[in-house]
Amino acid sequence: GSGGNFETVVFGVLLIGILQTAREGLWPHLAKVFPVKSAEARPAEAAELPARPLPEKGTPLLEVEHARKTFGGLVAVNDVSFEVRAGEIVGLIGPNGAGKSTTFNLVTGVAHLTSGTVRFAGQVISGLPSRAICKLGMARTFQHVKLVPDMSVLENVALGAHPRGHMGVRHALIRLDRAEEARIMAEAARQIERVGLGALMHRPAGSLALGQLRIVEIARALCLDPSLLLLDEPAAGLRHKEKQALADLLVKLRAEGMSVLIVEHDMDFLMGITDRLVVLDFGTRIATGTPAEIRVNPAVLEAYLGGAAA
Ligand code: ADP
Ligand code: MG
Repeated sequence: GSGGNFETVVFGVLLIGILQTAREGLWPHLAKVFPVKSAEARPAEAAELPARPLPEKGTPLLEVEHARKTFGGLVAVNDVSFEVRAGEIVGLIGPNGAGKSTTFNLVTGVAHLTSGTVRFAGQVISGLPSRAICKLGMARTFQHVKLVPDMSVLENVALGAHPRGHMGVRHALIRLDRAEEARIMAEAARQIERVGLGALMHRPAGSLALGQLRIVEIARALCLDPSLLLLDEPAAGLRHKEKQALADLLVKLRAEGMSVLIVEHDMDFLMGITDRLVVLDFGTRIATGTPAEIRVNPAVLEAYLGGAAA
């Protein structure tokens, strides 16, 4: 009658052993012994994906006119108008809850306007679904990092190029998508090099620091070959040096012809890199101008310091 007891003890020990050493199962251990090659980038072999012509510098790219969004009785975005011209970095700032993320959602089709219009490269885009808007060349990141931690940096970034591919499930089943996949992987590798993370390309995304993850998200957005990049608080939670790296990257992208709309409530971060700022408070645009003008604008000081400056 002692067999049952031994069973319990042996299983108990095994269970503790597995919990201690192989929480994610045996596969990660096997993968270490027999490294599985994930889809690799072979930039030399793959042809480049067709690129979008960049709009001429200074032409109006994004025009938001009287955008309004209400949630029940709450007016989250109250008749806000502003524009972004090609080749500019425009900052959208304001205290928490001012309506910055909601404005992003309205522009990118994630949320629908209650009233108003949004034009992108001369075309009215309000009312279009986000998947159609992104194909016109508008890419964004969200306020919270959303990457697949178990996938490599390269694979995560490649997801951003998905709308540029034409192959579907049927093609994939019989592996007719290989050439396109190689081109997408090569594009992802190029964008990772462009943002300066080439050394981390094959690491799982989950092993990176927050500052690096935010830059990976920018690389993923760049994979769409956008003419406008919208970044929602990319500097939140970053250390000083990481913020500096991010600022350098944005300035470099602008020099390459990219236009950027960036939400941030760290004013100092934006002062050095933006061409213009748009300030929201309680859903309303309270000011717009160059960083130097905004810095001394009484309405902005009031909103940020709650009257302490007055
Ligand atoms: P910010 O990004 O400037 O901090 P948000 O745009 O996230 O501000 O939010 C603006 C206001 O709208 C806040 O008061 C918020 O609570 C409200 N809000 C945002 N999204 C929703 C929603 N889906 N439903 C109801 N209220 C919302
Ligand atoms: Mg927000």
